[in-house]
Amino acid sequence: MRNHRERNSFGLALAAALVVIAAGPASAAGPADGPVFHDAHFHLTNYVQKGTDMAKYVDEIMGDKVGRSTVFGIPLQQTWSYGNSGDFAPTYYLQSDAPLYYYSFTDAYIANAYLKLKPEQRKRLDPMITGFNPADMYAADHIRRVLETYPGVFSGIGEFTIHKEFVSSKVAGEIASLTDPALDRILDFAGEVGLAVILHSDIDMPFAKAGAEPVFLKQMKDLLRRHPRTTIIWAHLGLGRVVHPVQTQATAGTTERNPTYRELVEGMVTDPTLGHVYFDISWDEVAKYAVSSPEAIRNTAAMLNKYPERFLFGTDNVAPPDQAAQLRVYDMWNPIWAQLTPEASRKIRLENYERLFDAARRNVRAWEAANVK
Ligand SMILES: [Zn+2]
Repeated sequence: MRNHRERNSFGLALAAALVVIAAGPASAAGPADGPVFHDAHFHLTNYVQKGTDMAKYVDEIMGDKVGRSTVFGIPLQQTWSYGNSGDFAPTYYLQSDAPLYYYSFTDAYIANAYLKLKPEQRKRLDPMITGFNPADMYAADHIRRVLETYPGVFSGIGEFTIHKEFVSSKVAGEIASLTDPALDRILDFAGEVGLAVILHSDIDMPFAKAGAEPVFLKQMKDLLRRHPRTTIIWAHLGLGRVVHPVQTQATAGTTERNPTYRELVEGMVTDPTLGHVYFDISWDEVAKYAVSSPEAIRNTAAMLNKYPERFLFGTDNVAPPDQAAQLRVYDMWNPIWAQLTPEASRKIRLENYERLFDAARRNVRAWEAANVK
């Protein structure tokens, strides 16, 4: 893998740590300069519904570094199957062969924790509904019921998942699909209410062959185009741990036959039928691609500088223990922050979040006022 120079704009070499040390501005702007970023992608709890206390998250982990944050659990619960792992209690989906199942109580848990906060703590959070099965035609009804039960709490739905390496095949019951009408019902309802949507769907299968169009790209674009009224944030640019940017797995001698990942994303952000679609650059697994080589850094920074209003930074942290964990993902992007214009940097770290989630809050509160008795 090290012998050839990938043509891809993000590259694959895992030299992230070295690059981070070599470049980047000071990550910690002081409180006088305001928060460093808002977190557009944050999980308070993990795959067994355990996590960080919400008040501690606001006061200590966000502190004066993270201004605002989305907050959600994980809709999928890892079963502890004694027959599979015995006394070992799995907390992550890679630690067990037993299935994952949809755990709707996560929404009540998040809402209750939020309602216990002080008003000034609440102001900094945007809770999201996640506890529904996107392959269930009744999923939209669950979302409505959560809004009716907990008015004044939620700003959006997600992160929920359609295709995800290693996860999709472990989910009990029907397999989710980008072509499922159940998903259309969810996105229609989100558009009607004004809920912001954070959608995870890998753009490709794991370990895909180089040279082929990402297998889920067309289905994804078709889905997005069917819901022009809905604000949709495509999580992680469609990438995953092994769902890599197109072409990076090229074997020796491959010539480039299809667009680089940058061109693919650029094609979407310049497509007038996809003006309601945003991308979050979250997850340390994604940062590793973006900072994998000087070329990847240049390409990523160029794309962010050119279309700064379409990208949001998030950590994708899951139940972090302290502030250092929260800032670590941000710091991985230092080589790229260093190459952004001040304007692009501000939009991606702060202003896009404020624009999208302020609108979502306003719209959802208005829907609740009109529809919740
Ligand atoms: Zn996530």
